[in-house]
Amino acid sequence: MIDRILAADRRHVWHPYSPLDAPTPLVVERAEGARLFLADGRVLFDANASWWVSALGHGHPKLKEALVRQVERLDHCALAGITHEPAALLAEELVARTPGASRVFYTDDGSTAVECAAKLALQHHVQSGRPRRRRFLALEGAFHGDTIGASSLGDVELFKRAFGSVLFECVRARPGDHPEAFAAMERALDQAGDELAAVFVEPRVQGANGMAMYGAELLQRLAARAKERGVLFVADEVFTGYGRTGPFWASHGAGVVPDMICTAKGFSGGMLPMGAVLIAEHLTEGFDGGRERAFLYGHSFCGNPLGAAVARAVLRVYDEERILDGIPARSALLRETFDRLGGLPGASGARVLGMIAAVDLGGPGYLGDLGWRVYDEALRRGAYLRPLGNTVYVTPPLNIPEAELRALLAIVEASVRAVLVA
Ligand SMILES: *Cc1c(COP(=O)(O)O)cnc(C)c1O
Repeated sequence: MIDRILAADRRHVWHPYSPLDAPTPLVVERAEGARLFLADGRVLFDANASWWVSALGHGHPKLKEALVRQVERLDHCALAGITHEPAALLAEELVARTPGASRVFYTDDGSTAVECAAKLALQHHVQSGRPRRRRFLALEGAFHGDTIGASSLGDVELFKRAFGSVLFECVRARPGDHPEAFAAMERALDQAGDELAAVFVEPRVQGANGMAMYGAELLQRLAARAKERGVLFVADEVFTGYGRTGPFWASHGAGVVPDMICTAKGFSGGMLPMGAVLIAEHLTEGFDGGRERAFLYGHSFCGNPLGAAVARAVLRVYDEERILDGIPARSALLRETFDRLGGLPGASGARVLGMIAAVDLGGPGYLGDLGWRVYDEALRRGAYLRPLGNTVYVTPPLNIPEAELRALLAIVEASVRAVLVA
């Protein structure tokens, strides 16, 4: 069967972020908790929680149960002129744990949540008598998804190269932890001031930008300045939300209450593609008073009952299993290992925040293949450890049992040492 799968794959599947002649993919048969079970019998730790989505590990029994119960009753229906228990009660539960938010707009994934927030910001300003606010400020190195709008907000050169002429320009500020960075950010915001519709940030961590981290102060200053200038503040918490950095929302942990929060990934526990924008009540300004002022936006699977039922179960699991309370002890384990790795010759920049740990190999500007060599070493030892260039990182499920986390970290350490110290 493996050969049959690989033959079909080789001929017909176009893989994300992969060259057409990429090495033969791993064939996964099933997954459970923090582990992937391959068709050839190998078992691998899922070191990045399947591209950051499986925050509660794979196949959590309570999520499976919610999915099965929901599919027996209502698989899907449109959310225009209709509502249902999962969408309505999920919105209430999300708002209850999100200070500043009062409305929820459902989307299909993270990119469409960002897209939705951008369009909502533009239409809000137009219909509130501020038609000049048509531009966005976003951070250098940002990643906000892969639709045209979301990649315009993004700043990963490699991902944008082929699309230059159709992407819109953003005002940029550099994330940083020092007074010059704050001053430059404030200048950028002031200069574009009354043309800006919104500021978009990935709070505290830019995942796709090699897990680049920055402190809370820039966020606080940016949010305060944006507010002064009448610019909306949008936190893209697709990666950082749901406890990935420690607090439920990274923005709240940094002392910032955004006008909109974009969520996906951990939002549905990684079980179904689904996202949402959590919206402050004042943004409804401009949208009342008739059909022609409505927000004409929506996706086919908006509020999908299966996704919403699972997303409600996710919140219950966070409460019942006290997921956030388990993070500090696990984070300390990450820090122990990554501090050691950062001290190896050829390694630098070890950093940890919540359940994210990263280290850079080969020094600045090094364009070699150290990250991928570590990937190969880890595969041999039992972990799927996809790097971001020469950044080796782990973002395991938040509830990975501590014994498994220790085992995973031992593999990471042995693999990095094998490449650097060999
Ligand atoms: C992954 C990601 C997105 C895109 O989400 P998709 O569900 O892949 O569309 C957007 N923003 C951030 C910060 C992300 O990490």
